[in-house]
Amino acid sequence: MIVLMNSGTDNELKEHSRFFEASGLRAYTVSTSKGPVTTFMGPDHAGLEQLPKLSPAFQCMQPSVPYVLASKTIKDTPTVIRLANGTSIGGKDLVIMAGPCSVESESQMAEAARAVKESGATVLRGGAFKPRTSPYAFQGLGLEGLKMMRNAADREELAVVTEVMDPDDIPVICEYADILQIGARNCQNFALLKKVGKTGKPVLLKRGMMTTIEEFLMAAEYILSEGNMNVILCERGIRTFETETRNTLDISAIPVLKSKTHLPVVVDPSHAAGNWKLIEPLALAAVAAGADGLIIEVHPTPETALCDGKQSLRPDKFASMMEKINQLYSMMATHRS
Ligand code: PEP
Ligand code: MN
Repeated sequence: MIVLMNSGTDNELKEHSRFFEASGLRAYTVSTSKGPVTTFMGPDHAGLEQLPKLSPAFQCMQPSVPYVLASKTIKDTPTVIRLANGTSIGGKDLVIMAGPCSVESESQMAEAARAVKESGATVLRGGAFKPRTSPYAFQGLGLEGLKMMRNAADREELAVVTEVMDPDDIPVICEYADILQIGARNCQNFALLKKVGKTGKPVLLKRGMMTTIEEFLMAAEYILSEGNMNVILCERGIRTFETETRNTLDISAIPVLKSKTHLPVVVDPSHAAGNWKLIEPLALAAVAAGADGLIIEVHPTPETALCDGKQSLRPDKFASMMEKINQLYSMMATHRS
């Protein structure tokens, strides 16, 4: 991996770009505390011999980690992702994304959107294309589901996050969603990651149930390397020997990721726990550990849910959890500043 960081003038940058790009290096401009910095990156086998004698305006870096664009080496300020409804992810506010596992009907979405908005969520979640373990299980409502979710979200001025499974669905999902979700099962589907990278849309990347933190950051790097810096990392539990919970929420991943990357980190206690009774303690732990946000399954009637009812909170339980979350977060604010 060759990494050349520019610290020269615009002219020097222009003069060299042509040679660097002809040599197989790609330019990335990232905003840092010193303003935008252009970095050229490419594989070791890029035609080094064709590079012009390196001007002192370019610093050749030997990255200590393979996830260069995701790392703090390249970008020393937190990435803040701004959505059309005014939500900022990775900034000073704790971001709450909530809603049912799957979109089931117009009324279910309307009720869910109203309830989660009332308790402080600014992003509505819901799956229209569902990654189910069984091919015989409910697979989601597809395009109809996207429309229902968008309508419900618009009425409440919420943003929309929804999962993309098939690269062919990306254009239509981009029309209806503010954030593209990559599910745990596709965390290392590199072809899909590259495609969502090309859209430039915010991407919520879920950690695979078997991916290490480094592999997770390398998955994010696939999206970033397509020029899309709008990536949100989501810890949603990993598979361990424990069977009392659906997965094991890796709380330590939060401070570890925050130490290694400028990208926002959110936590999904619902898919980690698999049991609504555990959502509140896990959500509080995630916030205490420094998460930038939470993504939580909330269903108006969990007992009738077509997917993940056991781990979905009723609106009243979500409301009481949010009171505690807000108390904790405001108490932490004094320590953050
Ligand atoms: C989901 O959020 O709907 C989902 C399927 O989660 P995960 O990919 O984390 O299992
Ligand atoms: Mn679910």
